[in-house]
Amino acid sequence: WDSINEVDESFRPIHTYQVCNVMSPNQNNWLRTSWVPRDGARRVYAEIKFTLRDCNSMPGVLGTCKETFNLYYLESDRDLGASTQESQFLKIDTIAADESFTGADLGVRRKLNTEVRGVGPLSKRGFYLAFQDIGACLAILSLRIYYKKCPTMVRNLAAFSEAVTGADSSSLVEVRGQCVRHSEERDTPKMYCSAEGEWLVPIGKCVCSAGYEERQDACVGERAPCGLAGGLRRGRLPGGPVRIGTGSDRVRCPYNKYPPPSSPCYSLRPGPPSAPVNLISSVNGTSVTLEWAPPLDPGGRSDITYNAVCRRCPWALGHCEKCGSGTRFVPQQTSLVQASLLVANLLAHMNYSFWIEAVNGVSDLSPEPRQAAVVNITTNQAGPADASPTKSQSRSGPGQTSVSLLWQEPEQPNGIIRYEIKYYEEVPASGRRGGWRTRAGGALGWTRPRGPLVPSLRAAPSPASRGLFLPSGSLQGGGARIGGFKGPRYDTRTIVWICLTLITGLVVLLLLLICKKRHCGYSKAFQDSDEEKMHYQNGQEPHTYEEPGRAGRSFTREIEASRIHIEKIIGSGESGEVCYGRLRVPGQQDAVAIKALKAGYTERQRRDFLSEASIMGQFDHPNIIRLEGVVTRGRLAMIVTEYMENGSLDAFLRTHDGQFTIMQLVGMLRGVGAGMRYLSDLGYVHRDLAARNVLVDGNLVCKVSDFGLSRVLEDDPDAAYTTTGGKIPIRWTAPEAIAFRTFSSASDVWSFGVVMWEVLAYGERPYWNMTNRDVISSVEEGYRLPAPMGCPRALHQLMLDCWHKDRAQRPRFSQIVSILDALIRNPESLRTTATLCPRCPAPAFARSCFDLRGGGAGSGGLTVGDWLDSIRMGRYRDHFAAGGYSSLGMVLRMNAQDVRALGITLMGHQKKILGSIQTMRAQLTSTQGPRRHL
Ligand code: AMP
Repeated sequence: WDSINEVDESFRPIHTYQVCNVMSPNQNNWLRTSWVPRDGARRVYAEIKFTLRDCNSMPGVLGTCKETFNLYYLESDRDLGASTQESQFLKIDTIAADESFTGADLGVRRKLNTEVRGVGPLSKRGFYLAFQDIGACLAILSLRIYYKKCPTMVRNLAAFSEAVTGADSSSLVEVRGQCVRHSEERDTPKMYCSAEGEWLVPIGKCVCSAGYEERQDACVGERAPCGLAGGLRRGRLPGGPVRIGTGSDRVRCPYNKYPPPSSPCYSLRPGPPSAPVNLISSVNGTSVTLEWAPPLDPGGRSDITYNAVCRRCPWALGHCEKCGSGTRFVPQQTSLVQASLLVANLLAHMNYSFWIEAVNGVSDLSPEPRQAAVVNITTNQAGPADASPTKSQSRSGPGQTSVSLLWQEPEQPNGIIRYEIKYYEEVPASGRRGGWRTRAGGALGWTRPRGPLVPSLRAAPSPASRGLFLPSGSLQGGGARIGGFKGPRYDTRTIVWICLTLITGLVVLLLLLICKKRHCGYSKAFQDSDEEKMHYQNGQEPHTYEEPGRAGRSFTREIEASRIHIEKIIGSGESGEVCYGRLRVPGQQDAVAIKALKAGYTERQRRDFLSEASIMGQFDHPNIIRLEGVVTRGRLAMIVTEYMENGSLDAFLRTHDGQFTIMQLVGMLRGVGAGMRYLSDLGYVHRDLAARNVLVDGNLVCKVSDFGLSRVLEDDPDAAYTTTGGKIPIRWTAPEAIAFRTFSSASDVWSFGVVMWEVLAYGERPYWNMTNRDVISSVEEGYRLPAPMGCPRALHQLMLDCWHKDRAQRPRFSQIVSILDALIRNPESLRTTATLCPRCPAPAFARSCFDLRGGGAGSGGLTVGDWLDSIRMGRYRDHFAAGGYSSLGMVLRMNAQDVRALGITLMGHQKKILGSIQTMRAQLTSTQGPRRHL
């Protein structure tokens, strides 16, 4: 490397480092910076400006001339002087020129290249950068090293100090805010500093202390006139003057005066708190853990405690009664200081409704009903009781077209029992037809089928009770008794389970001994047995759907293990490894993926594992992963599916970051949408739609997979499935499904919106490294993921539509597919990128910003109340309603006089409302004029 001082075309001195040993082979020339102190940065950026000569422009250098160079770094806690060695450096990247110059350019201005590379994570006190030349004709003109930080900022009355960005390109740094002078913390204020140095996702806030008013990120001392701010609060207290204290301390607090903070009446000013938020339940058998977050409005006091109300709802949520005295609350039921509670000793299979209310020292004085957060759950574990029905009887008169079945409930029902009737109709010409029906209660009637009916009955299985089927009998014409079977007692079942576990253990031990070499969870020895024809397990047509996790394999075909040849492990899932292999079919070998259940599984795990195949086997769609069959003989449990060359969508996109056109990405999403439309048309709710659960084949066709969590719904397309336990993928799940566990096709649509975001962000983690709790609260507050870089506006709008708070307002999958089709047909529509709110900085702003842009199906849901809440002026909802302002369109036409005419006398509040109206107007004019929902 030569150090060269030159002048540029304006005769300004420039200092460069140059190297040009293009004639000699095996060049290895290093140029190192001095030691650079890190200065708190965890990730730095190196911007290199350089020129590079085109090898083709130099004769006789072929084979020795290079057009790239390498960038390295070395971390150290101190300046190492000249003692650094090449081997200590870590490579950052090989850098090529976008523009190289030729001999013709010599003497004129050479083409300058600028490249930026991120370096990190850094942890030592400083570092060096180094350039390695391997035979290029290169000049480094400048090197700029910098890091990014988020600037100081006041948001929601909390001051955030400057923050250095995180160590890698997708990490967010959580920063706590400090309440500005004369304000108090309402909900811990925090924000995240993104890798790009932008503040994201403000959560929590501070509010001005009593006697102060919010004005431009500060609280200024403006005494609220009597009967306004103070009066509103005091209005919650019993009317009339209140006396506090005793004897000579006794003070009469006037009802219509605002008490100064020094007055003992000041403590009377606050009101009761609002309801706690983000109540989450997690059911474990017959106990439930409840967790929640403090109320958003603590009522101006800090002495908040919580009370739990437990209600048992044996028949329906509308008919609840107080929980029995046997119910245990840990640590206690009332005056809870912490925001969590364990409730134990509940009845199995019972609906419960829990109300958590927040109270403070003035709650008892308030005439208003207490606000509570509510969660409904169903316990799911049978106690030590027999949940099998006992006797049953069927009735059907000659020539009648209906059949009635009667049975006795188990002696110890242990809560509500749902029964399953399994029947099939024997129709001689067309074979069997059948299906499952589930009913509560002890009797069931249905329209008599055409042929003889073969019914059988059991209590619906639960994790603890499989509910045995009564033996079936053929029912023809007159009433035939179908059995007097009494289910086995609990003790017998326990013994059977213990025996099964022991036998399983022995078999596993034996298998482990036999399998010297493990091939994707099963021995090659199994592959050597005789070839057998593939066949449907039970000859049933896949036209009725079973509840997953139950009877298992009706729509799967058994594959003989010897037909499968396993070649390599390609992934691993929750239940075991996934292998690539070949399935021998007459005349050819198909590439397949084989999912094998990991060793040491329980019978339940095996059942759950195979139930996924049973669900998959019912589908037949180009965008749903195709089941080839299952291997279940002996202790084997494998699911064989078509092989998808590019694996899961999230990993695929991460490894091909930025390499696809928008049209290709939309094509992928169209595939996922079409698969989901098919599932929702069948009444299936996936519940775990995420890019990681979408597979990509060699032609970029995306197929939905992973049906471990999916559930079938009744015929009603709006039906929702309520679950009580299990894990929920928070970042992908709709708020109502997190809060109330109501899963529906509309909650799948929410997840689809997140998949859209993942695809356009090339596999970025939704909500980056925010905690689940923060994701829940920010979504609850109205925050929505911003458009990924370069994301067309129309696609971001579709995402926002999928994330509509009201699930009825979200588009259906059929609409989503139509929208994507329309975008594909009209590529122009994908030209405009979402720049208006690239990173919505605040929930409040996000809502007004995004929803006002509206336009897509169901996007226009912002009400005047929502808007007022979003600017923290919700207290004036009634004022606006009384003034007849029922839509934002009307609000947009308001002026200062109109606002005053509503009785909003505080200057600060008037300004805030008018300012927000102005912002909305500006946003609308910068898009395409007012939207139809206004
Ligand atoms: P899973 O247990 O289904 O989540 O699968 C784990 C991983 O195995 C996935 O993330 C994929 O990388 C890979 N995989 C699963 N199924 C297939 C398939 N049919 N074709 C190719 N790779 C698959």
